[in-house]
Amino acid sequence: MAGLAAGIRLAMYDRKVLIIERHNAPGGLNSFYSLEGRKYDVGLHAVTNFVPPTRKGTPLAKLCRQLRIPRESLELREQIGSRIAFPEHNLRFTNDFSVLEAEVAAAFPQEIDRFRALRQAVLDHNEFDYTAPAGSARDMLARHGLSPLLTDMLMCPLCYYGSARQNDMDWDQFVIMWKALFEEGFARPYEGVRVIIRALLQRFREVGGQRKMKCGVRWLHSDGQRVTGVELDDGSVYTADLVISTAGLVETQRLCSDMPPEAGRDNVGALSFCETITVLDCQPRELGWDETIVFFNDSERFHYEAAVDDVDLRSGVICLPSNYRYDAGQELPEGLFRVTALANFQRWAGLDEGDYRARKQYWYAQLQRSALRFMPELPAGTSLPAHTKAVDMFTPRTVKKFTGHLGGAIYGAPQKQKDGRTHLDNLVIAGTDQGFLGIVGAMLSGISMANLHGLK
Ligand SMILES: Cc1cc2nc3c(=O)[nH]c(=O)nc-3n(C[C@H](O)[C@H](O)[C@H](O)COP(=O)(O)OP(=O)(O)OC[C@H]3O[C@@H](n4cnc5c(N)ncnc54)[C@H](O)[C@@H]3O)c2cc1C
Repeated sequence: MAGLAAGIRLAMYDRKVLIIERHNAPGGLNSFYSLEGRKYDVGLHAVTNFVPPTRKGTPLAKLCRQLRIPRESLELREQIGSRIAFPEHNLRFTNDFSVLEAEVAAAFPQEIDRFRALRQAVLDHNEFDYTAPAGSARDMLARHGLSPLLTDMLMCPLCYYGSARQNDMDWDQFVIMWKALFEEGFARPYEGVRVIIRALLQRFREVGGQRKMKCGVRWLHSDGQRVTGVELDDGSVYTADLVISTAGLVETQRLCSDMPPEAGRDNVGALSFCETITVLDCQPRELGWDETIVFFNDSERFHYEAAVDDVDLRSGVICLPSNYRYDAGQELPEGLFRVTALANFQRWAGLDEGDYRARKQYWYAQLQRSALRFMPELPAGTSLPAHTKAVDMFTPRTVKKFTGHLGGAIYGAPQKQKDGRTHLDNLVIAGTDQGFLGIVGAMLSGISMANLHGLK
């Protein structure tokens, strides 16, 4: 998404652009695939940053304006409502901030003024200052006097949707995610992520961009100052005035001919995830499930850290893509129940094929059991297996295989490169490791880095 957005922006101003993609499908971490005749989105839970079309000056409006993609072509439909579920409290939220504020006031009356002060600090902060040092969000919340419980409850969705740091977030990133989730909100196109990818591809073609698919970058040759040649898997070599890499910071360093193979070892992300997808024989609301996304945690504290076991069942995210406000008559052809949890890359990566399949089956069942604890109880006499038509599951190994992200780290390296610069003058990082996460973030990152390094 970052690569396509950067490519559109540059091609709009008559730069000659070639996007090189190793995979055969576009979309990267948020693509789609078919399995046994069914179309699945790889990852889309929600397009964040949703605001009504009339609200200007927000990331979504900026993104559409900069790419000249009509907002309507994204076909975004709003969430019904989501929840943060902890043992002692639930906090509901929608795309209307006042709902979350009222929930905090009811559950944490003694903290509501501190919560409001924190919100003000978020609104006052300029998260796009590339020169600001990375501060800790947890420190900031502690300085505002928030209790550990309320801190954990607020951190849970924000970490799950965008932190590359264990048990914390950069303050800048916290501000970005707070605005993306709580001030703005969730939406989804009826047909899923392919609508967004289609809009990007069409625009890229319109402005004359070219793509080379199924052929990765093998080496970035350099003279120690600049990229002098981009060598592809098929042996061909291209030259370019500017190379924008969205492969990840450490991954890109290791493509450079002047860097050691272990470059960036201390900056490889440690956080990866499993996700299960259950195809239901009914819509979730028929089971009494009418929420959009549930972020859950069963422990006294929220642990957002590399899983010790294959999967960490203590917390996770449940997503029900049917539960958006689609147009009248639009209903997803099948109900889906998606569950995401933290997982350990090393443990999954080391398995042989037979063990891998067996472990997937085992953890699929464990993860459903874990998630169901936080859902309204199913009607008597029924069960999730009784409503299951098909299942699929991805693991950290899947992420590595299809996107090349080291350690299967979806949110990339903990140390971001906010200005996109690298040790080579004409090599720039965009996307996840520049520091804007999620699909809206990735596209904004592509736009910003193209503007900063390619058009100024
Ligand atoms: C399961 C899952 C669920 C998610 N859910 C959401 C969600 O609901 N909402 C949301 O906003 N975000 C979500 N995300 C996060 C979001 O998908 C990512 O933040 C975003 O897509 C990152 O985009 P990117 O362009 O920075 O990087 P990527 O998508 O990683 O793109 C990098 C591209 O580079 C290619 N590449 C790598 N190495 C090479 C090479 N050597 N040569 C050529 N090509 C190469 C890869 O194949 C890939 O296509 C989810 C991610 C996952 C995995």
